[in-house]
Amino acid sequence: MHKKSPLNRRHFLRISIFGMLGAGMATKGGWAREKEGTRAHSRDIKSLSPAKIKDYRILGRTGFKVSDLAVGGVQDEGLIGTMLDAGVNYIDTAESYPGHHRIVGKAIKGRDRKSIFITSKMLMEKDTSKEGLVKRVRKALQELNTEYIDCMMMHMPEKVETLKTEGFHAAMQQLKAEGRVRYVGVSNHGSFWFRDPQETMDKVLLAAADDGRFDVFLFAYNFLQMDQGKRVLEICKKKKIGTALMKTTPVFKYYIIKSLVERLQKEGKEIPSLYKEGLTRFKDKLDRAEQFIKKYDLKNPDEIREAAFRFVLANPSVNTVCCSLKNYDEMERILPLSGSKFSDRDKATLAVYKEGCGELYCRHACGMCEPRCPQGVPVNTIMRYFHYFMAQGREKEAMLKYAKIPGARADLCRECPGYCEAACPYNVPILGMLHLAHDQLSLA
Ligand code: SF4
Ligand code: SF4
Repeated sequence: MHKKSPLNRRHFLRISIFGMLGAGMATKGGWAREKEGTRAHSRDIKSLSPAKIKDYRILGRTGFKVSDLAVGGVQDEGLIGTMLDAGVNYIDTAESYPGHHRIVGKAIKGRDRKSIFITSKMLMEKDTSKEGLVKRVRKALQELNTEYIDCMMMHMPEKVETLKTEGFHAAMQQLKAEGRVRYVGVSNHGSFWFRDPQETMDKVLLAAADDGRFDVFLFAYNFLQMDQGKRVLEICKKKKIGTALMKTTPVFKYYIIKSLVERLQKEGKEIPSLYKEGLTRFKDKLDRAEQFIKKYDLKNPDEIREAAFRFVLANPSVNTVCCSLKNYDEMERILPLSGSKFSDRDKATLAVYKEGCGELYCRHACGMCEPRCPQGVPVNTIMRYFHYFMAQGREKEAMLKYAKIPGARADLCRECPGYCEAACPYNVPILGMLHLAHDQLSLA
């Protein structure tokens, strides 16, 4: 199937996003379905016979038997439906995913509702009074076209303090009593902003475990970013909290990034010298990574991605892994991973990848370098949006999110020697990556 590169799509996206912003439609649904590859244009869906889910695990104290692979942020109702047909029974959505509640609502229409576990999430912004949150959940129920939500999560609380939001807990109590919400959960992939560098993902989630009112956690964990997630998994096991993972395959699309760097160099525009230096440092690491990839015959990024999936599935404390699939091809590659075992070859593959390419990954839920930025640029958040753009096919959403960052963004990095890069304990060539991210995500 022909796949358009994000580079080619950017111009179109930029124009359409300007249109949406201008029309005040930035958060309204509908556009997600235009996305590349999310429709099976060139495939006869009826001819698909994807692998079936082979492993189900108990989701902590909820007692629900969930498939080891889950639907996470998939933007097409047909694709979600096919995954459900294959035995996937956990769907993750959120109020802040544009149009996603309605997409899920269409995908579950006519199915046995009791056999599916749906989680949604609410950011602790807008109206967080009890009444406000009850109203927001009722709207979600309507959009999802369901009588109840299995688990309503507090979406990315940035501080321990936020976990105590009174209106949230009062609203959940009422909605539980009404049978509209069955369980309460929390999601986290690190602080949005450097102003709270001490409020790390594990600190917030360990506090949520102590709080006792949260039954399911959704968080980041992968073979390159293990420490925080490990601590969270341990406490979840002890307290019988259900675990769903995200950001599990940090396999950088280095060929795409490489062509981006080359394009910028070829454009011949005047590039500030600090910008050039940052890109050069990034490209050096990219070239080194490429040598590793060739030496160890890791030319197929799918193989690395699959090993990364098997790595997290091998942990018995992991209940389910959310898959943000872009299209049917990806689904056909990922579903056979259900129930598969992490092999010695997988272990070796990931070790080689980590050695050769690990420095190209800005760790999810990190942000350790951010206090060093004199401009207050939210480095880790920007890199997360870049990940949505480059790796998850969520280009429009990523650009919109980037446009809405309050305060400093990565355009300020052009004139900076990269204090953040010097502070990164993982040697990520972040200055060059910030330049690239700004180039791709900005509307100007
Ligand atoms: S650049 Fe390094 S320190 Fe900064 S957020 Fe990324 S991984 Fe963490
Ligand atoms: S490059 Fe400079 S301005 Fe940009 S995030 Fe790093 S320290 Fe801040």
